Amino acid sequence: MTQKLIGLTIAFTLLTLIFWAVEFLWPSIKGQKKVRKGFWTDVVYWFFTPLISKTISQIAVLIALVPALLMMGRTLNKEAIAAGYGPALSLPPWLQALLILVIGDFIGYWTHRWFHSRRLWAFHAVHHSSKELDWLSSVRLHPVNDIVSRIFQAVPFVMLGFSPVVIAAYVPFLTFYSIFIHANVSWSFGPLRHVIASPAFHRWHHTKEDEAIDMNFAGLLPVWDVMFGTFYLPNHKQPTEFGVHDDSVPESFWGQMMYPFRKRSRSS
Ligand SMILES: [Zn+2]
Repeated sequence: MTQKLIGLTIAFTLLTLIFWAVEFLWPSIKGQKKVRKGFWTDVVYWFFTPLISKTISQIAVLIALVPALLMMGRTLNKEAIAAGYGPALSLPPWLQALLILVIGDFIGYWTHRWFHSRRLWAFHAVHHSSKELDWLSSVRLHPVNDIVSRIFQAVPFVMLGFSPVVIAAYVPFLTFYSIFIHANVSWSFGPLRHVIASPAFHRWHHTKEDEAIDMNFAGLLPVWDVMFGTFYLPNHKQPTEFGVHDDSVPESFWGQMMYPFRKRSRSS
């Protein structure tokens, strides 16, 4: 625990230095404060998600996997599961990695769209509540949002026989990429704009402006948005207004934890 805390503090310091420099040099919105509204709430998430949400999701993944693996006739032996099995194992590592990336992002696209539906929006609205979007806004995720997304990403791969070790190796990369695409920079990757998610692409997803509502759901590969008609990335224009339309998400960490439950009991 102490070691984890030290690791998280070092990572936070390093990323703050990197992204403050990048956002200073290539800002999308000029003059945005570094310690902006909601900064300290997001710092709480920085520690809470890896320490608490992640632990809960690991337990939830196990609970979901046990009956699934038993039904498939696999033994519940830790080493056997960690080694992977079946057709996925016979694939070369680079192909396994590529498949996890592509299929994982496809699942992520649809899970994300699901969180934009009426039933789940209150949980995801917390993530969309940052009004001054920057790299640190990426960590503002309600634990229910985080846990459900992780279950949907992990369970299918373990069932397909991919090694949980290979899957887990992706987590730091995905976390870093998510941080990167929220950053207050205007990069859109020019000719690759339809292929690789960029900060410009994802910042449009967070806008309040009507033109881009419910667009750009992909985390890595905007090709899903192109395929399913949700791609939006104009040339020479950057989103300027962020947040949730009715402004009902509280600023405090605890307020945000409780928000979806209060919202649901009010509307039912
Ligand atoms: Zn979203």
